[in-house]
Amino acid sequence: MRFESEGYEYKKRVTPDLSDKAFRIGDGRISGYLSMFLGIISLLAVLAYQYPSYLTTADLRAAYDAEFLQDVLMYCMWISLGFGLLTFILNKRKRMGATGVLCTLLAFALGGYHIPTGPVEPSQLSFGLDWLLLAFVASAAVFIFIEKVFPKYREQIITRPEWKLDMIYFIVNHLLITVLLLVANYFFTKVFSWAISADLQAFVQSQPLWLQVIMLVLAADFVLYWSHRLYHEVPSLWNIHAVHHSVEYMDWLAGSRNHIVQTFSDRIIAIVPLYLIGPDKAALDIYVSFAAFQAVYVHANVNIPLGPLQYILVTPKFHHWHHSSQKPAIDTNYSVHTPLFDKLFNTYHMPKEHWPSHYGTVPRIPRTFFQQLFYPFSKGNKK
Ligand SMILES: [Zn+2]
Ligand SMILES: [Zn+2]
Repeated sequence: MRFESEGYEYKKRVTPDLSDKAFRIGDGRISGYLSMFLGIISLLAVLAYQYPSYLTTADLRAAYDAEFLQDVLMYCMWISLGFGLLTFILNKRKRMGATGVLCTLLAFALGGYHIPTGPVEPSQLSFGLDWLLLAFVASAAVFIFIEKVFPKYREQIITRPEWKLDMIYFIVNHLLITVLLLVANYFFTKVFSWAISADLQAFVQSQPLWLQVIMLVLAADFVLYWSHRLYHEVPSLWNIHAVHHSVEYMDWLAGSRNHIVQTFSDRIIAIVPLYLIGPDKAALDIYVSFAAFQAVYVHANVNIPLGPLQYILVTPKFHHWHHSSQKPAIDTNYSVHTPLFDKLFNTYHMPKEHWPSHYGTVPRIPRTFFQQLFYPFSKGNKK
């Protein structure tokens, strides 16, 4: 990693006093945000139902029940309206409430939760709006709950500094899912398909499910460890990866901050070992679900004591140290799934009691989405 570090000392993290922004019952903030988010989600969901060929992903459509989700949409719309009206009764956060109510009314006008569902005309490229909405609702519900029950930094609020920037990354990365998969599959077919061995795949598939999952975890982690390490040790790659490390407040949304080049390369790199190993679909599904959960979890503002499991699995504490801007932790903890390869290649850093007191890069890099998009290619950052 190419930045200078601050002096190293174990000290308590100093979180800025954001108590005036904390969510309190009665001040309209909870109802305002809920109304606004549910209203926007409802409007986008109705658009996805109206134009499924262009706004939904074929793989996901096969996995969910579109009619059941219309029932969920119905609740979202009425709850958005209810909370929107509440902001007017409370006479606080009326602008948020009005946004929520307006979006929901527009969603009703565009067909609401009664749009007929049926066979969808396939299209090769589409925006993953359904993937974005489902991932957002599920991640927000699960991780905000876990962060509130087992917080590492209790005083850190949901709308911490730069949450809007990370939300933009979350949206962009999820909308591009079909493009990502298409590019990754194309890349694999063109570059690596020669390496597929029918014997190896038959051997893998003859193993019990749990062993196939372990093989996937280890193979993917080995490849991801080295690609991650290259991103740190090659200066031009570091300028791309620095975007991910610019996060100064760790939570469930923070891990979304990735430069688009990194998003594509990670997807391509991760897919290679999975395709070469060629496990049963059930093993692949378990691995992908585990990897998706862990990618968010390790960034979360969470401290759940896992006992001996912390030596087997990458935990929030392990990955928080990777994001630390303090010297002994810099360029350590590259693993994604299990700390094994960091231990093997001498990059393991895990103080027993302490967590980092500072996150981010030194010097800081620009703070808007477009500035960060062009940052790796700008002349000013050559080291
Ligand atoms: Zn890194
Ligand atoms: Zn990270």
